[in-house]
Amino acid sequence: MTKPLDCGDCSMCCKIPNIPRAEGDVIFNPDREDGAKLEGEWCQHCRPGKGGCSVYEDRGPTCREYKCVWLQSQDRGEGAMPLSMRPDKSKVMLQPTKGGYGMIFRVLPENWGAWQKGGVKRLLLGLWEKDLVAFAADTNGRRAALTPAAQEMVLKITDELEDEA
Ligand code: SF4
Ligand code: SF4
Repeated sequence: MTKPLDCGDCSMCCKIPNIPRAEGDVIFNPDREDGAKLEGEWCQHCRPGKGGCSVYEDRGPTCREYKCVWLQSQDRGEGAMPLSMRPDKSKVMLQPTKGGYGMIFRVLPENWGAWQKGGVKRLLLGLWEKDLVAFAADTNGRRAALTPAAQEMVLKITDELEDEA
């Protein structure tokens, strides 16, 4: 069996999502009364690219229990997603919708459109084949439904612009 991969240098879940503070959690943002962190803010304890969480041993239950879709897939042996799809590599953090009818492709604003490439794009096409719904969301509040028709338009426009060059 393939050895499961781990988070490595990825810290995307310490920036992209809102993290409400539960009992026993560290303070994520000291400037907020509730200590929670908002979408797009770095947790105060994160040292991105320099070891990640600086309070790893003392991190609270929310952080201990959290596993993104990519990390969960590492428990599936042969079904594990490749390293290229880890959020720091692909620039997309996958999140199932509540109710399981689809997937949200969460990105930083500068990575809008990152789902058009590689394994993430193949996953998107697979969702459509199963009639599941896909959404894109960036940390500035930009939201979009990703539909096959929109994907076709992006490819068409890409071809048009390349023809112009
Ligand atoms: S791989 Fe997933 S769980 Fe691990 S740091 Fe990145 S986003 Fe978080
Ligand atoms: S406490 Fe550590 S694991 Fe939790 S959000 Fe902050 S940096 Fe990330």
